[in-house]
Amino acid sequence: MNIKINEKRLLDTFLKLVVIDSESLSEGAIQKYLAAELKKLGCTVFIDKAGKKIGSDAQGNIIATFKGTRSGKPFLLSSHMDTVRPGKGVKPQVKNNRVTSGGDTILGADDKSGLAIILEVLRTLKEQKLQHGPVQVIFTLNEENGMLGAKNLDYSKIKGCDGLILDNESVDELLIQGPEVRDFKVYIKGVAAHAGVCPEKGISALEVAARALSLMKTGRVDKETVCNFGVVHGGEVTNVVMPYLELKAEARSLSPKKLEKQIKHMKDCFAKAAKAFTKRVDGKTIKPQITIETPLRYGTLNVPKTAPAVKLVQAAAKKNGVNLKLAASGGGCDANVMCQHGLLMPNLGLGVQKCHTTEEYLKIKEFCQAAAIVLDTVLAYGK
Ligand SMILES: [Zn+2]
Repeated sequence: MNIKINEKRLLDTFLKLVVIDSESLSEGAIQKYLAAELKKLGCTVFIDKAGKKIGSDAQGNIIATFKGTRSGKPFLLSSHMDTVRPGKGVKPQVKNNRVTSGGDTILGADDKSGLAIILEVLRTLKEQKLQHGPVQVIFTLNEENGMLGAKNLDYSKIKGCDGLILDNESVDELLIQGPEVRDFKVYIKGVAAHAGVCPEKGISALEVAARALSLMKTGRVDKETVCNFGVVHGGEVTNVVMPYLELKAEARSLSPKKLEKQIKHMKDCFAKAAKAFTKRVDGKTIKPQITIETPLRYGTLNVPKTAPAVKLVQAAAKKNGVNLKLAASGGGCDANVMCQHGLLMPNLGLGVQKCHTTEEYLKIKEFCQAAAIVLDTVLAYGK
């Protein structure tokens, strides 16, 4: 039997979704639209209470259950409802087998291509009366600003453990690994002194930081680990030895062990610098005070190559003429957060290019291939 998605309807759905404004924390309208569409398809729709917690105008993340013709654990399909800015008043243009924006906004294919594919897959299952297991759809809020929707998702409602995130660029790439990321915030309190009269009585917070950084491995630390200092604030005038300095950095690694080692190394460098600048002034010991915070931004994405979703997507890609590569990402997505909750959901590409820019575009052929791959994966799961 030749099972095909309706490519025209898929594209129409996409074009409808991109004109519903949904910049991060303003997902109210699109959440209502999607919940209604899912209900029309016969889904049981649950909306959690994440919206209030994170400051969105939407009630929450959508968790919708689509019954199977056979029983078993549901296969999970997830995309995020928000877009980056500028995402208001998108005017999509279709030409040369591509969809672009009008040039003054992003397109929002990140991630409305995923939302459209999920709706089309359910429509196809229903319309063609196909044999399949249950499916759970997870549409999240605010992925773009720290995956706050996924972090506040009501996981008690999720009944499956295998699935797919649809939120990557090229259709031939399936992300199975992503880094753990820690923020690294440093506050250095030096000792102020008049720079013209008695600089030797002060401790420059900037010089302490410079010493620490000169001892530190930053940038590309190893194949799996990177580190970057991106923000510096300190001092106000030139005639005072700089009394304080604030630095913001981050470190990422595909290996949580290596990340822990890097964070320890960074802390040690600041401790050494503090020691080097400790001195006696007027019979008293003065030293820089250093405070460091290293909150977890998100954990690793780590889906084994042998996970059911990976195997099924590989087979479905082959069937649909896509030469799929398994890849590691340097960034994070909802899949990282869900992975920490035991959900094994690799992230499939959908034919989206130049995300987060006004030049963002969707390759229609790849988009349709991605939909076919998702459909075949759902059909094969639990068979
Ligand atoms: Zn995205």
